[in-house]
Amino acid sequence: MASDPNCIFCKIVAGEIPSFKLYEDDETLAFMDINPVHDGHCLVIPKAHSPNVMEIGPEDFAAAARLAAKVAKAVNAAVSCDGINLMQANGEGAGQSVGHVHLHIIPRQKADGLLFNWEPKPGERGHIASVAARIREFL
Ligand code: AMP
Ligand code: ZN
Repeated sequence: MASDPNCIFCKIVAGEIPSFKLYEDDETLAFMDINPVHDGHCLVIPKAHSPNVMEIGPEDFAAAARLAAKVAKAVNAAVSCDGINLMQANGEGAGQSVGHVHLHIIPRQKADGLLFNWEPKPGERGHIASVAARIREFL
């Protein structure tokens, strides 16, 4: 499986750095974003490294899309929200900061005023862990 030794998400896949894992199978992984815009903000990735959607193979993207739909349902059940955005950035100009294809799952509130691209702010780890446990109950 393609892997980049300098990629932070490949390191998460390999278990070399910690993450709040929600779900994984042979091809994909879902874990909490550590700078959540809202409670329940998480990421879905193909385990194989591809830098962006222009370079990813259709199977890897399809596998990530399948898991994103599954996780979005769990997030919707686990946190109180008015809706959910799936968001995916490619290239610096589009706000991509990690060069390993990922889909954001972002719970929204009607009047949250959230604008793309947001400024990342670190979340409180204990709180992220407790939201992750709630989402896992629905997976
Ligand atoms: P993007 O800006 O669309 O490339 O999104 C990258 C996301 O990865 C950001 O929302 C970061 O908060 C998130 N992120 C970066 N490093 C980590 C990490 N070690 N664990 C979890 N999320 C991370
Ligand atoms: Zn990678």
